[in-house]
Amino acid sequence: MPYTYPHSCRTFFSVRAATHDGADIKFSKSEGELHCRGTTFNIHRDGQLYYLNSTSNSKTASHTLQEWHVILGHCNKADILKLQDKVDGMIISDKSDFDCEVCVLGKMTETRRREPDQTARKPLDVVHVELAGPVDPPNINGMKYSFV
Ligand SMILES: [Zn+2]
Repeated sequence: MPYTYPHSCRTFFSVRAATHDGADIKFSKSEGELHCRGTTFNIHRDGQLYYLNSTSNSKTASHTLQEWHVILGHCNKADILKLQDKVDGMIISDKSDFDCEVCVLGKMTETRRREPDQTARKPLDVVHVELAGPVDPPNINGMKYSFV
């Protein structure tokens, strides 16, 4: 995660954090490159420090079908496969099928039992009413609820 020092106009970048997250970084005497998730960023040297250009120099992005699914907001697989031919630089490195837990959870519905819990067998056996209350102070008879 880049960090801007309060008195600096530059952003500091942690090589250790990037490599810990799977990035590959190569340094030469005057420049470098950072490869992360199919994207390459240039690193240039200014004095004794190296600086990371925040824009990618790569015109391609390579991800698995599952990664593209997440990047594109859980788009369906067939549309992602169609996009590869339409979008310049979009590479799907692994087209194997997968199950997305987020999509499965998002499509779950709650089913309700439609049979009534209790059935009336004679008049006034079951009464449904709407009550208002509790009312404070209670009425003259001490009742706190009334029928609506
Ligand atoms: Zn999904």
